[in-house]
Amino acid sequence: MKLVFATNNRNKLKELQNLLGEEIELLCLADINCEDEIPEDYETLEENASQKAQYIFDKFNVNCFADDTGLEIEALNNEPGVYSARYAGEEKDAKANMKKVLENLNGVENRKSRFRTVISLIIDGKENQFEGIVEGNILEKERGIDGFGYDPIFEPKGYDISFAEMDMTEKNKISHRGLAVRKLVNYLLSLKE
Ligand code: IMP
Repeated sequence: MKLVFATNNRNKLKELQNLLGEEIELLCLADINCEDEIPEDYETLEENASQKAQYIFDKFNVNCFADDTGLEIEALNNEPGVYSARYAGEEKDAKANMKKVLENLNGVENRKSRFRTVISLIIDGKENQFEGIVEGNILEKERGIDGFGYDPIFEPKGYDISFAEMDMTEKNKISHRGLAVRKLVNYLLSLKE
């Protein structure tokens, strides 16, 4: 079976291909000559993941999936949520995004937050969604240099290090994306049985 992942991130693609084995061949957007700016017009991760997958399915008539991720901070009414990438502006600057979060939480005791990923899979027109959540706290300041995005200010529950201080294998074991991807993989593997 061929399956298109609505991404051009070759690392994400390779990681998933390893998990899936050879019977499912993963393709990225470049592989199907898709250079479109894929729409993400909604205010929930579920709707955006669905919209992206549906767009690829409708236009290219291929089985596919898309993901959407957000950081949800309890004291900020679950912001930045779907706006995580561009919280501090269209430049999608991770440093500026973290600064805005820390400023908005200045003096706020409740630091509870979570990363949430939703994956929308469409096979033969039928859609399934898979969710992954990691709970944690927003730190008072940045810690660590690895990872990306909000990693330096996110401390997963049960740990006393930030995501940016964790090695990638360990992060993948507990992360929102890791959990959602494993649910997707298990589902796809069950179809092969
Ligand atoms: P996307 O939906 O995977 O593009 O993620 C949207 C935004 O959420 C990214 O631009 C990052 O700012 C943030 N984000 C997603 N996953 C992570 C993560 O694992 N660590 C830190 N930030 C993340």
